[in-house]
Amino acid sequence: MTVSIHPQVDAGSKPAREGFSGGTLSCRCSSNPVTVKVDAQTAHNHACGCTQCWKPEGALFSQVAVVSRDKLSVTGNQDKLAIVDLSVGIQRHACKECGTHMFGRIEDDTHPFYGLDFIHTELSDDEGWSPPEFAAFVSSIIESGASPDNMEAVRTRLRELGLEPYDCLSPTLMDVIATHTAKASGAL
Ligand SMILES: [Zn+2]
Ligand SMILES: [Zn+2]
Repeated sequence: MTVSIHPQVDAGSKPAREGFSGGTLSCRCSSNPVTVKVDAQTAHNHACGCTQCWKPEGALFSQVAVVSRDKLSVTGNQDKLAIVDLSVGIQRHACKECGTHMFGRIEDDTHPFYGLDFIHTELSDDEGWSPPEFAAFVSSIIESGASPDNMEAVRTRLRELGLEPYDCLSPTLMDVIATHTAKASGAL
């Protein structure tokens, strides 16, 4: 039996469109949806197994990418947005009615990813977004109830899809975090 990772990832992702410069995300409410306009292509799109990222019903992983926060604006029904958890580094702004996370924002300017918003481009009908490049926090799906006995099958399936599985972030992003820490401490 094939392991299902995420509905949009399972069939193989479409490549990014050259010159693509963004689109509109909508929450899942059938009327008066929250809309968010993104004026740039995303970076570092990936499948994420953590317990905090929003994922569609039944999915093992979320699909999440980043964009500069100055390229993101709420364009409709902003009054339906609320922050899910104020105590975490990435504050997820979610629709109070349908629960969809519209964007995650970092308010702590010492955070290594400060200035980037986290978004789920599957909420957009526009085509051309950057596809996922790797899978992060793979072991963390167990924290959401996935069977530890199935992890080999999950990692095998991720590799088949071209998404190298990591149990934290990718080496590129771990290097970004370590560089930030080293600059803050003066080691670099
Ligand atoms: Zn909604
Ligand atoms: Zn996550």
